[in-house]
Order: sequence, then structure tokens, then C-alpha cells
Amino acid sequence: MKKIQMVDLQSQYYKIKSEVDHAVLNVMDSAAFINGPEVHSFQADLQQYLNVKYVVPCANGTDALQIALMALDLQPDDEVITADFTFAATVEVIHLLKLKSVLVDVDYDTFTISTEAIKKAITPKTKAIIPVHLFGQCANMEEILKIAKEHHLYVIEDNAQAIGADFHFSDGTSKKSGTMGTIGTTSFFPSKNLGCYGDGGAIFTDDDQLAHRLRGIVNHGMYERYYHDEVGVNSRLDSIQAAVLRKKLPNLDSYNEARRKAADYYDDAFAGNENILTPKRADYSTHVFHQYTLRITNGKRNELQKYLAEKEIPAMIYYPVALRKQKAYYQESDPKNFVNTDKLLDEVISLPMHTELDEEQMKYITEGVLEFITS
Ligand SMILES: *Cc1c(COP(=O)(O)O)cnc(C)c1O
Repeated sequence: MKKIQMVDLQSQYYKIKSEVDHAVLNVMDSAAFINGPEVHSFQADLQQYLNVKYVVPCANGTDALQIALMALDLQPDDEVITADFTFAATVEVIHLLKLKSVLVDVDYDTFTISTEAIKKAITPKTKAIIPVHLFGQCANMEEILKIAKEHHLYVIEDNAQAIGADFHFSDGTSKKSGTMGTIGTTSFFPSKNLGCYGDGGAIFTDDDQLAHRLRGIVNHGMYERYYHDEVGVNSRLDSIQAAVLRKKLPNLDSYNEARRKAADYYDDAFAGNENILTPKRADYSTHVFHQYTLRITNGKRNELQKYLAEKEIPAMIYYPVALRKQKAYYQESDPKNFVNTDKLLDEVISLPMHTELDEEQMKYITEGVLEFITS
């Protein structure tokens, strides 16, 4: 059996090696390393795929979030509501910009931000909500957009984990994740669903003026060459990464389908086990399974992880600590308001999930989990 990894980037690369190598070598030949034609073409390709008016490439997904907040002209102490259960980058950028993060609970079944908790957290200082489409499934955007409209709030979708997912609105229309809010952001970190071979990110919007601002901010606040109208940053997607992404984007839907097939296999294997809850698939979103995350309800999650490690089955705890309890972002909180997050911290375990899992590996993984849970 092929060695099991959380993410197998090498096997995926070998399947597209000749075309990717060719594309990368072309960039080398052209020497257009920064802002070359590959960057512009990828930007256009992604706009088309997402059906969004503007894609602004940048250096990584964390920058994308920071630049999105900068473009909205938020002021120190403005409040930004986001989930207590997510990767730290989401809340890090809020603090970097001296804004105030208001962390709220998530839903137990979907792992995404609780719309009830958002409503309770809104104050006159609230300016924005950052829903995170965690583990590959959209947060409840229809409800979030409704709340945002009612309270005149910006919505920034952190779409680093769900590129390619579709959100279904109750009127029968659908939109791609990341294209529903004021601004959407994503990451092309190698292990993401659309990953490059280094760092990369992008920002999405349909708004003409915001797109202009975003393009200026990523480029030192420069709207006319060597005229700096505001303090910006330097955040670029380089041409080599864009060339890789251009070759991978046409495969994104089939990559996500391969992840869903692996998730189906896992779901079937664990169905009906009283100590294992499989990830819920919400009816309003497709799931692109950035992670396949179980909830282990018998209190033995950590022992399961150890048992699997002995069998050379990697499994990860995303995430072990609530953001509100991290040293950098510590905030006083009433545990009654974080019942789901606190439960998830003790129960979640993510199994290997990538595009290259084969049946032999999935059989070995699921048998390993069941052996421990039913023993
Ligand atoms: C990966 C990730 C980011 C940050 O992306 P980088 O490209 O690593 O900076 C932000 N938010 C979430 C939810 C992520 O998973």
C-alpha cells in the first residue's frame, strides 16, 4: 500500500507534471517573473470560473484578508465579527489593523459561524462579518447576507478552504463560494483545494470601486506609477505560481469530485456508529471537503489519534484551541456562549483527505478507526 499522508501533493503533481513543467519553464524563458502574462491570464480564467467581475491576485490568503479589510476603510476599534473556531489568520489580520475582533460560536453540525451568535454579537460599532467557509462547505450565506443588509455591515468571505463550492439560495439560484459577500478571499497554499507550488492568494469582488482600491493597496497604495495615495502593501502572486494555477484550475472540479468520493467512502464506513458523527452536508452548499472531520463522541478522540499514528495513519486536530483562548487574541468570555466550539475542540479529528486517496488506503484508514472505536 502507498504510504498514507494527510495530503499527497506529489502524486497529484506527477499526473500533470509534463504540462506544469512546460508552463513553468516558459515563464523562465520569458523572464516575466512579476506581473507577467500568466498572472493576467490566470486572473481572467478565475474570474470566468467563479463568475465574478474582479479577481485581484496577491501573495497569500492572509494578505488577501488583510487587504480586504484595508479596502473597506475600517477605523481602529471598529468591531468585526468572526468565528471562534477557525484558522488564526482570520482573526490575526483584524488585530494587525487595530480593529476589534468579536469571536462567536459556530454550529455544531456544520462547523461554520452561527447566525444566531452573529445576531447577538452586533453592536453599534459592528462594521463587518467574516464568515469562514470552514473545511470546504459554505457558511449559511443567505442568512448572513440578510443580517448584514439589515445592519449595514460588510461581509468578507474567508474562502481559503472552500474554493469551487456552490451556495444554493432559496430562490433556486446558486453562486460560487467567495463571490456572495462584499469581498471574498482565498489562499493557494499548496494543500488547499486549488494549491500552487509556493504561496499565493486572491481577492474577489463585483464592485468596481473596491476592485480599484484593492489593486492599489496590493501595489504600495499606488494608483499612478510612483504616486502613492495611501499606505499599501506589497503583495503579489508571482508568474511561476500563476502558471501552475492556470494548469490546475481546469482540474479543480474533478479534484473536488475526488475529495467528495473519498468523503462518501468514509461516510458509508462510519454510518450508524454511535460514537462517530460524520460531517454534515448542508442543503444550502455543496461540500468540497478541504478537510474530512469526524466528531468522536465517546471522549476518546486523543487516544484514537494515537492509535492511528501507531498504524501509520496520520490524523490531525483542526483546531485544538479556541481563538478566544489563544495568548495573542485572548478575550474574556462566558462559556455558555461557546458551547459548540468548546465541544468541537474535544471531539474533532480530521482524516487524510486529498485527491489521490485509493480504495486500499481508505479501507485501511476506516478499518483502523473502527477497530479502535468498537474495541
Ligand atoms: C489557509 C488559510 C488562510 C491563510 O492562507 P495563507 O495563504 O496560508 O496565508 C486563511 N484562512 C483560512 C481559513 C485558511 O485555511
